[in-house]
Amino acid sequence: MRVAMIGTGYVGLVSGACFADFGHVVTCVDKDASKIDRLKKGEIPIFEPGLDALVAQNVEAGRLAFTTEAKDAIASADAVFIAVGTPSRRGDGHADLSYVYAAAKEIAELMDGFTVVVTKSTVPVGTGDEVEAIIRETNPDADFAVVSNPEFLREGAAIKDFKIPDRVVVGTDSERAREVMRELYRPLFLNETPILFTSRRTSELIKYAANAFLAVKITFINEMADLCEAVGANVQEVSRGIGLDGRIGRKFLNAGPGYGGSCFPKDTLALTKTANDAGCPVRIVDTVVEVNAARKRAMADKVIKAMGGDVKGKTIGVLGLAFKPNTDDMRDAPSLDIIPALTEAGATVRAYDPESMHEAEKLLSGLDYAESAYAAIDGADAMVIITEWDQFRALDLDRVKTSLKSDIVVDLRNIYSPEDMAKRGFTYISVGRP
Ligand code: NAD
Repeated sequence: MRVAMIGTGYVGLVSGACFADFGHVVTCVDKDASKIDRLKKGEIPIFEPGLDALVAQNVEAGRLAFTTEAKDAIASADAVFIAVGTPSRRGDGHADLSYVYAAAKEIAELMDGFTVVVTKSTVPVGTGDEVEAIIRETNPDADFAVVSNPEFLREGAAIKDFKIPDRVVVGTDSERAREVMRELYRPLFLNETPILFTSRRTSELIKYAANAFLAVKITFINEMADLCEAVGANVQEVSRGIGLDGRIGRKFLNAGPGYGGSCFPKDTLALTKTANDAGCPVRIVDTVVEVNAARKRAMADKVIKAMGGDVKGKTIGVLGLAFKPNTDDMRDAPSLDIIPALTEAGATVRAYDPESMHEAEKLLSGLDYAESAYAAIDGADAMVIITEWDQFRALDLDRVKTSLKSDIVVDLRNIYSPEDMAKRGFTYISVGRP
């Protein structure tokens, strides 16, 4: 099959490289010429483990190419994927669909012969109808079907998630389109991956419902963590105690500083907007959005309290900026709320992240960036862990002790043991643990 991937970001590049690895011929298209230039030179513009090798192998095999010119790629494609961004629209929190609609128009002008147009971007219910209308209006003679095929990959484990997914969801009423989608995902049929065929609207909603449910789960355990702190219980044991119940499940029950990232914040918000517009509010998600936003802001207060209530003139060494480990993605990361609040309170922040500092520099000012974890905490009044990179799980604690001016460690990811830290003489504050 021939595939055109419109948008070569975290989702488009991974999906394109994986489809090529399945044996299809893929052209990844992006408007961002610098991104395409880098890809053509063999550089990967994002940090995603394993992606450099996968891209190189498939380029070498002649199955994967990059371009800013969509024309040939779209005209020759059996399937054109829309994998452009759908950020929160400024002001109202609805998903901004302008990139999706622009891509639809462009595809309509360039398609040739029966073409399946697949929306991989996360889009609100009814967007497929609008994409179909745009294509019909722009090119009344076009022979096409619009399919919803939401993506569930997680940054940091994206290749595995794409190649061994829990499920693939395909929303369309067209049997011709279903055939093309079956062929595209055929290697997964061999692995017995569940492939769910639904209506387009159902498929669009599945993606938002999945993200909202996960956000509810995280927010639930975060509130339990606060309650644990208030009543002297241990949230990790609560997580284990409830998670072993198969109906609840153990995943996504780690208390922390609140969810961030390129998906949960914008998707939970967009779902609440869709629900309100439909006259059917999802109050649990409304509350989760509110509680999570407040939690990220409250984390700075937790640090300030741990440091005696005043951080004026003090230096804080921050470990981790990305919204989670194994990615350089900084979108809506908790660090973006926590660090400005600390600097506004008068602290000097010195931060280190293994992969995201080049992105962080665009979004965060008024702090210093260090070259290593130890450089970040050298002479600092406290060490604060915001992202649980593996390398922060195995710090030389004797060295940490001698590097820090005080003994305060605030661990917002619960990666150290309170008993062990106490034994080593740290004043150790974590989340929801005595
Ligand atoms: P991204 O911002 O990394 O990439 C989007 C790319 O699209 C950019 O490179 C941009 O230049 C390009 N683009 C925009 N308009 C274009 C056009 N008309 N033609 C060609 N290129 C164009 O975004 P992302 O993180 O890959 O997310 C894409 C979509 O996938 C979003 O809807 C997101 O919600 C969804 N999603 C993301 C993830 C994730 O973990 N990042 C996971 C699942 C779903």
